Amino acid sequence: MPSKPILSFVIPCYNEQAVLPHTLQELSAALRGLIADGVISEKSYLFFVDDGSQDDTWALIEKAHIDNPNHMRGLKLSRNVGHQNALLAGLLGQIGKADAVISLDADLQDNIAVTKQMIDCFSNSGADIVFGVRSERTTDTAFKRKTAHWYYRFLHWLGVEIVFDHGDFRLISDRALRALAQFGEVHVFLRGLVMQLGFKTEVVYFERKPRVYGETKYSLSKMLAFASDGITSFSIKPLRVVTTLGLILFALSIFVFIWVLGAWIAGETIQGWTSLMIIFLMVSSFQTLALGVIGEYVGKTYFEAKSRPRYIVDKELSP
Ligand code: UDP
Ligand code: MG
Repeated sequence: MPSKPILSFVIPCYNEQAVLPHTLQELSAALRGLIADGVISEKSYLFFVDDGSQDDTWALIEKAHIDNPNHMRGLKLSRNVGHQNALLAGLLGQIGKADAVISLDADLQDNIAVTKQMIDCFSNSGADIVFGVRSERTTDTAFKRKTAHWYYRFLHWLGVEIVFDHGDFRLISDRALRALAQFGEVHVFLRGLVMQLGFKTEVVYFERKPRVYGETKYSLSKMLAFASDGITSFSIKPLRVVTTLGLILFALSIFVFIWVLGAWIAGETIQGWTSLMIIFLMVSSFQTLALGVIGEYVGKTYFEAKSRPRYIVDKELSP
């Protein structure tokens, strides 16, 4: 283990011109501080990934790079591929260049002060992955807090291994990154994928801060797609649930069959519209639901089978 590791801070940015000048300042100061304290090597750097922004994000990154080419590096993707893929592009780009990477959001909601603790877990405790876990969620809306909580519990029930209240603020060692590079899936859900890597892990707690400038880049539809990815990438339990429900309905139908036959023998064949409607609605809605669940997996397999590139690099800024 190198005594002073080369650290790379990977920051995905999508239309972040409002917050980026502030972020550049804060992060450079933090980087300088960590180098001055002898926690990380002088060769450490910040790595910004522009996820196909339409605003001045890339211009700001380029300017920072010109002013300080060693410590400020960047990657411009050819188009917007979403937070997870942009982050992946940044992470995989550091293989062989740094001893460890720390990923954080451009809006500085992840507390940079705890990065020192993360590096300590890596350098002194030999952890390959260090998870940043929110100690509270007061900066989130009550809606986000509740839905996130239910979602985590649902994932847990599905058997998806995940660290509670951990987003994408984490340290990953170079060798863990090399392992991550072997996962070729197109739909990336990093917080689940890193759990598949194994290695020694540690947890560091932090208070998530509110976004200072700009707005969230996660629309409700992006969030729903992300949540669905988390489930379908790691569990086929929903398919099994559908099968189980199907079996229960089948068992029920046997009773109904006997009842209907009994009624027919007794000569009560005219009445029964209500029961017929109830059975019809139950079965047809279950079938539609089952098709939807199966469809999710089929659709996903369709995209995975194509195995299209997860991102395309336009430009890279390196010293
Ligand atoms: N982001 C990205 N591509 C996207 C959406 C978001 O690179 O398509 C970045 C964004 O710039 C930020 C991080 O992902 O650095 C997290 O996004 P945001 O802060 O908007 O999400 P929230 O904190 O509201 O969940
Ligand atoms: Mg944010």
